[in-house]
Amino acid sequence: MVRWIAGINPESFVVIEAGVQRPIEPVKRCRVSNFELRITRCYLLAPAPVILGMTLAAANRPVVDFNDEAIGAKAGVREEEETDKEGPPAASMLVHLDNIAMHKRAPVQQAIADIRMEMKHLFRSYLKARGFKEFEPPSLIGAASEGGSNEAFLAQSPQFYKQFEIAGGRKRVFSIASVFRAENSNTPRHMTEFTGLDLEMEIRHNYSEVLYLLEGVLYIFRQVHRIFKDEIELVRSVYPSSEILLPEPGQEVRLTFTQAQQLLREEGPAEFRHVRDDEDMTTPQEKALGALVRQKFNTDFYVVDKFPETARPFYAKLDDTTAAGSAEGAVKVTNAFDMFLRGQEILSGGQRINHPNELEARIRAKGIDPASPGIDGYVQVFRQVGVPPHGGGGIGLDRIVAWYLGLPSVHLAAYYPRTPRRLLP
Ligand code: ATP
Repeated sequence: MVRWIAGINPESFVVIEAGVQRPIEPVKRCRVSNFELRITRCYLLAPAPVILGMTLAAANRPVVDFNDEAIGAKAGVREEEETDKEGPPAASMLVHLDNIAMHKRAPVQQAIADIRMEMKHLFRSYLKARGFKEFEPPSLIGAASEGGSNEAFLAQSPQFYKQFEIAGGRKRVFSIASVFRAENSNTPRHMTEFTGLDLEMEIRHNYSEVLYLLEGVLYIFRQVHRIFKDEIELVRSVYPSSEILLPEPGQEVRLTFTQAQQLLREEGPAEFRHVRDDEDMTTPQEKALGALVRQKFNTDFYVVDKFPETARPFYAKLDDTTAAGSAEGAVKVTNAFDMFLRGQEILSGGQRINHPNELEARIRAKGIDPASPGIDGYVQVFRQVGVPPHGGGGIGLDRIVAWYLGLPSVHLAAYYPRTPRRLLP
């Protein structure tokens, strides 16, 4: 029997009948070391192949390459030796996805999946407890279709629909939905499909109400930290990362865009001596800022507020106090902000324009025709009714999972990552 069992291929599905007993000494190299099974019967219900496309040990090692090239090459033969020769060879993302069942059997992937789902649930419960109503934006959007064209597009953001809900008399709304972007996704930060956690709310006095509410995502991180200690440790044993530094309540770091650029100019790497207040930050700038903020303020989470209008879409509300050319000089800024985790953007938010004429003027100023397809219908909603002042934000679920856990790519945080070249499995 022992010989027969030894011949069963790893990852086969078996059923055993056994008694549980304490081992004479703790079993080494096992997750459960204080109990062992004394097997009386063993049935092989579904055998695994003699040679696995990827072993469990390889699946639980860090993914070595996220490149999408070579798609279609044969699975199983592409396991790449890592530079350090210790342990089993690690595999590329392509090998992982070609062996999706083994990818999912890896404890590290299961820990990431559990943390992801909890973050989504925490987002929902945080908002529901604050009077937000969930709604469902469409994923298919029509182009202006004369005579009933069959053409449709995938939604790039639920932005307009969140605002329609506010126009429709909802005071606070949120949605959890797939968002699609036709962008070059060969970066560790982008996919063509990701999950957007979005909210929109009426503003009573000032748009900082939106900012403070969105800083509540910190609650998600604190809860996850509390609930998933073991899983976080497990992920860290595969993808090493430093302990995340979160600000104490009331100690949140908020910089204006101008202050952030000034910090980069004065204390950042030499190549950022001349960054401008009217140009959006590049990814290397964001990362350098993250390092500076960590050093100076001891936090990995912070807000950059008052983005220049050149870096924001047409619906962003201009800051009236600085638009007149006061303290911040000639640069027009918006009541819009980004939130960062470990030097990477996780959230964009801000106040939106709620008057149709102002909206049309901004659309024109951005060089867009207000009568163009899709835009005209959007502006029209602000003419149908008087819409209250409002603001909101959008979080990429894949990004908060990845950057919270210090993963090398958002592709690891997604169940089935999608890129321009990757639609399977
Ligand atoms: P980036 O400048 O990094 O491409 P963005 O400015 O296009 O992002 P927004 O349109 O503001 O991002 O989207 C809101 C949030 O959605 C972002 O903060 C990010 O967390 C997430 N996000 C945006 N694009 C992607 C993508 N392609 N893949 C995964 N998450 C994304």
